[in-house]
Amino acid sequence: MIIFTDLDGTLLNHHDYAFFNALPALDRIKKSRTPLIIVTSKTRREVELIRDAIGIDDPFIVENGGGIFFRAGYRDFNIKNALTIEGYDFLKPGRSYAQIRRFFEKVRSVFGVKGFGDMTAREIASLTGLSEDQAAFAKDREFTEPFIMEPGQDTEGLSRMAEKEGMAVTRGGRFYHLIGKDQDKGKAVCMVRDIFEQHDAAKAITVGLGDSENDRSFLELVDIPILIPHPVHGYLDMDRPGILRAKMSGSSGWNAVMEGLLDEYAI
Ligand SMILES: [Mg+2]
Repeated sequence: MIIFTDLDGTLLNHHDYAFFNALPALDRIKKSRTPLIIVTSKTRREVELIRDAIGIDDPFIVENGGGIFFRAGYRDFNIKNALTIEGYDFLKPGRSYAQIRRFFEKVRSVFGVKGFGDMTAREIASLTGLSEDQAAFAKDREFTEPFIMEPGQDTEGLSRMAEKEGMAVTRGGRFYHLIGKDQDKGKAVCMVRDIFEQHDAAKAITVGLGDSENDRSFLELVDIPILIPHPVHGYLDMDRPGILRAKMSGSSGWNAVMEGLLDEYAI
């Protein structure tokens, strides 16, 4: 089994970002060496802190599929066409943050949008409930720009203009995100799944957990999709055979549904 999980509102609670209610399932996942692949709109710096806190060193996907990071030497994998940075082999389906910001600055006043690059760490902290230190890590971006939009603005128009420039707009639990058009969480999950399949004889069952629209692309391609209810918006509107819906939001729902699956597969 390979588990792909979103963070905010999925493994982490929407409001307090805690995951301790998921510790029983996480413990079993770690003991069984089941790969737990984080798939998030967060940055590499933010994910590094969370991986350390959980105690895993599996590959991870940041900024909505903009970058895919493997610790160098992870399970002796040989990752073709990987770039290297700070102890990682990494793949980069996304654009550079500088390119993304150049476009964003052109359209900022036209569409009434404000991105993380226009905000101080304190402003991001007040929008997200993160601490100012955590917000500084959230600002440390490599591939994409999260942004807010004034009510009544033309999201469709912005999407169309982004497409002309080779970019796209997606939506997470709190923010819109300006991303490269050739990236999404689903494409990145496919790449990671294929790399595992190249190195393992047995085809692993893939499990995916998410709560928001930007999770749809990977929830549609895993063997077992799991929806975690958003505390305000409820379940993502999605139906597939075998889909599971957690009864509780955040880490409690994550734990309950994963413990059930681990039981079922005797892990
Ligand atoms: Mg989420």
